[in-house]
Amino acid sequence: LARHDPTRSAAFDPEKDSTAKERLSLMSALRHGIEHGEVTFAYQPKYDLRAGRVTAVEALVRWISPERGFIPPDDFIPMAEKTGDIRHLTRWGINEAAAQCAAWRKKGCMLTVSVNLSASDLMNPDLPAEALRAQKEYDLPTGALHFEVTESAIMQDMDRALEVLSGLFSMGFPMSIDDYGTGYSSLSYLKRLPVGELKIDKSFVLKLAQSEEDQILVRSTVDLAHNLGLKVTAEGVEDEASVDLLKRYGCDVIQGYHIARPMPADEALDFIMRSRV
Ligand code: C2E
Ligand code: CA
Ligand code: CA
Ligand code: CA
Repeated sequence: LARHDPTRSAAFDPEKDSTAKERLSLMSALRHGIEHGEVTFAYQPKYDLRAGRVTAVEALVRWISPERGFIPPDDFIPMAEKTGDIRHLTRWGINEAAAQCAAWRKKGCMLTVSVNLSASDLMNPDLPAEALRAQKEYDLPTGALHFEVTESAIMQDMDRALEVLSGLFSMGFPMSIDDYGTGYSSLSYLKRLPVGELKIDKSFVLKLAQSEEDQILVRSTVDLAHNLGLKVTAEGVEDEASVDLLKRYGCDVIQGYHIARPMPADEALDFIMRSRV
């Protein structure tokens, strides 16, 4: 009898069932949204402290669904990663970033555009070829497209991730480790990764001026990165005091609300052109 008791079977668990349904419907809405222009990028400037200007932007996805309104990336990217839908998003994203980068270059604005990759992108052996195809299609020079990958995404399956990263590296794509400091950073794996930059997670930067501990961590990370021949970006820079500290530490690039928020492509261009003079 117990076998027919629905409460005993996970397959009949109404709570679980509705979550799965919701997840499916959100992901099919996302696929539809990608195809129908609901998904765009906001671009956040990256300020190069030595050059004294914005030399790059990071592409951050923005989804406004007609039914559901604005849905923050943190509310659908982890799910899209689980279901595999992230691959559609990444394919769209690489193409969109390449097109936008080319459009800016035609206007004389020689920016690098960074695209975020997820764990399942690093399991996709076709990714490097797809990126190269987009670069060629929009006639971009090597280095114009750049990728950000989190430590935790790499650690999910280091060997497979290394294959994709090496593929991208051999094609000349620059890469950064995103959210640096939040994962299981170890020196041995840092040495093995074909990346040129560490991006210090914003949790260490947001309250930098108020936290002696964060100051020690950030300063020693900048030194570590430089000793390994890597550049350093600090994200989450929200005040002038943090800018001053990061300059003192020799940080290479800063990014955060104090410099600029993520914004639509045309506003980003205005901002960058204005901040040049
Ligand atoms: P992330 O790559 O670490 O991006 C930085 C996040 O911090 C962004 O949130 C950005 O808007 C926010 N941010 C920037 N400056 C500041 C600041 O000064 N203070 C604070 N408090 N926050 C700041 P967003 O746009 O909501 O993106 C969240 C995450 O979603 C990203 O974290 C990234 O992991 C993921 N994501 C966004 N777009 C994409 C995408 O196209 N593909 C993939 N795979 N992931 C994406
Ligand atoms: Ca990022
Ligand atoms: Ca980050
Ligand atoms: Ca993050």
